[in-house]
Amino acid sequence: MITSPGSTPPGSTPLGLDPDELVACVSCGLCLPHCPTYRVTGLEIASPRGRITAMRTVESGLAPIDEAFTAAMHACVQCRGCEAACPSGVAFGHLIEGTRARLAANEPTDPNRGRRSVSRVQRLVRRALLGRALTWSWLLRLSGWGLVIGRVLHVIPRRLRSTAPNLRPFDVRVRSTIERGGRPDVWLFTGCVMDAWMGATHNAAAQAIRATGTTVGRAERNVCCGALALHAGEQDLARNHARRVVAAFPGAAPIVVDAAGCGAALKEYGDLLDDASARAFSARVYDVHEWLASERSLPLRTTGTTVVVHDACHLRHVQRCHTAVRSVLGGAYDLVEPADEGMCCGAGGAYAATQPELAGAIGERKAAALRAVGADRPGVVVASANPGCTIQLRALGFEVRHPVELLADALIPQPAEHESR
Ligand code: SF4
Ligand code: SF4
Repeated sequence: MITSPGSTPPGSTPLGLDPDELVACVSCGLCLPHCPTYRVTGLEIASPRGRITAMRTVESGLAPIDEAFTAAMHACVQCRGCEAACPSGVAFGHLIEGTRARLAANEPTDPNRGRRSVSRVQRLVRRALLGRALTWSWLLRLSGWGLVIGRVLHVIPRRLRSTAPNLRPFDVRVRSTIERGGRPDVWLFTGCVMDAWMGATHNAAAQAIRATGTTVGRAERNVCCGALALHAGEQDLARNHARRVVAAFPGAAPIVVDAAGCGAALKEYGDLLDDASARAFSARVYDVHEWLASERSLPLRTTGTTVVVHDACHLRHVQRCHTAVRSVLGGAYDLVEPADEGMCCGAGGAYAATQPELAGAIGERKAAALRAVGADRPGVVVASANPGCTIQLRALGFEVRHPVELLADALIPQPAEHESR
C-alpha cells in the first residue's frame, strides 16, 4: 500500500507504512550481499534489514524521525536488489517509497543547524523541477547544452561532475524521428530527459521495432514517467505524471519502453494509481528487449564484437526481464557476463547527484567487476539499457551503448522494410 504525503490521518503511524509489509521481514539477512550501500559501508543501518528495522522502530514510536533516520533512508539507491533476493517477498520498494514520501512532506529539523535539512524553498524548487518542468523538452535540451558547455568551460557544479562530462554534443543534438500520434501497431514511450539527451537511442529502438514489420509511433505530447518524483518522495507529482502518461497512449496497442527505469515505473502504475484503468495500462507495457524477444527473430549479421552486458537494476530486479537483452543481442554479438550478479552501478536516477560519495564508491565496485571481464579493453562495448547507468558507466571510463543501438548496427536491411514506416 502506498501512502499519500502531507497528511497523517488520525490514528496512523509516523510513516504510514503497511504493517503487513513491515512485519514480512524476518531479519534473515539474505538480502545483505545484494545491497550496494551495505557492500560499500559494511553498516547495518545501510542495509535493507537495518533500514526495515529503523522503519519499524519509528513506526512503533520508539524512536523519532531524526537526521540519522533520514540519512539512512536517503542513502538507499532504491535499486531493489534486496527485493529480488528476499525469500520472504518483502516489498521493500513500497516501504522505501512510503517512507520517502513521509520524509519529503515533513523533513526533520537538524538539531545542529536548528532548521529543516531541506528548506521550504528547496522543496518548492525540487517540486517545480520534478513536476511540469520535466515535460518541457526545450528546458531539458537547453540544460543538456548547458552541461556540455559547462564541461568545456570547466564550470560544472561539484555534484554534477560525474554526470556532465559524459553528455556529448552528439547526444543532445540528435532528435527523435518517430512520428507523433496516429494509430501505430506499438507506441514507443520516449519520456523526458532521455528524449532530450538520447534521441539516438529512440531512433535505434524504432528501427529495431520496424524491422519486425511493425509500425511505431510516439505520444502527441511529451510526458514523464514520474520515477524521479516517486524516488524523491513526491508521490502526488508522480501520480500526476502517471495520469498524463495513461492519457497520452490511447487504444490497446502495446507500449514499448527503452529506458529500464521508465519501464519499471509504467509497469507499476496499477499500484501507484490503484485503479483498474491504470492496471490495464500497465498490462500493455513492455521493455523494448522483452517485446523484441517475443516477436519473430530479427535479421542480424554476426559482428564479432564483444559486449559486456550490464543489467540496469530496474530491468533485473523490478521488471525481471533482463534475460531478454541476451536473447536479442546474442545473435549478433559475443556476450560476456560480469560476475557480480547484477550489482547496482550507483546511478540510481538522481542518486549520483544527491549522494555523490556513495554513488562513487558503488560505481568503483561496479567498474572493478566490469574490468575483471575485460570491459575496459579496446573494442569491447558495455551494453546498458538505462540512461542513468550509461552516464555513470561512461564516467567510469567505459565505452557504453544501449542494446537497441547495438541491435540497429547489426540489422541486415530487408527489401520489405519500407522507409515510410
Ligand atoms: S528483507 Fe527479506 S532477505 Fe532481507 S532480512 Fe528481511 S526477510 Fe531477510
Ligand atoms: S533498494 Fe538497494 S540500496 Fe536500498 S536497501 Fe535495497 S538493496 Fe540496498
